[in-house]
Amino acid sequence: MVDSYRHKGLRRALVKKIKEKGIHDEKVLEAINQVPRHFFLDTAFLEKSYEDIAFPIEEGQTISQPFTVAFQTQLLDVKKGDKILEIGTGSGYQCCVLLELGARVFTIEYNERLSKNARILLGKMGYQAKFFCGDGSKGLPAFAPYDKILVTAGAPVVPQALKDQLAIGGCLVIPVGDHKLQKMLKITRISETGFEEESFQNFKFVPLLGEYGWK
Ligand code: SAM
Repeated sequence: MVDSYRHKGLRRALVKKIKEKGIHDEKVLEAINQVPRHFFLDTAFLEKSYEDIAFPIEEGQTISQPFTVAFQTQLLDVKKGDKILEIGTGSGYQCCVLLELGARVFTIEYNERLSKNARILLGKMGYQAKFFCGDGSKGLPAFAPYDKILVTAGAPVVPQALKDQLAIGGCLVIPVGDHKLQKMLKITRISETGFEEESFQNFKFVPLLGEYGWK
């Protein structure tokens, strides 16, 4: 795995592009600048790694578009030491961006092979996260509460289980909609029973499967 001068140049150009598209959090931009995205794609697609596009990975899944990763990360407003649950490990790329920001990441993936591949790759890259394989639509109650929860697949509704696993003051970022389009929501837990919801632009994600996802 080589992160050459050329890759770094392509990455800087990508960061410039997503900044022009509206990502203003310098810490998020720097995290994107640090993570070698080409490590997550097959070597045959090196040229695609630093285009602002989602890209197919194994098992019919996708690595999210860099703008989308940056947008969700910016909404999370990650603080050093935040305990974050990521639902949908996929390639592991988003997880690295969160780790670059100093978060402690618990990441859960439905697909066993993807989970294993991400665990191996992140290990080789020197990143440390806690990997789980299972239905993340139910969250990961054994380790709750979380300061932040990030869902990287499109949900039909906001699972109550995820809201219940937020710490007070914590937030959940989740795309919710139908199979074609999902609205990005940020839900903040303001008290034991109180939640505030903010709504942002539309995105297109692969479906969140499982008990509280698409059947
Ligand atoms: N965050 C990933 C990355 O950086 O590559 C992109 C994730 S991809 C857009 C969505 C992922 O969510 C897929 O890998 C899919 O298998 C996973 N997924 C779907 N439903 C899930 C569930 N109920 N629990 C955990 N993972 C799920």
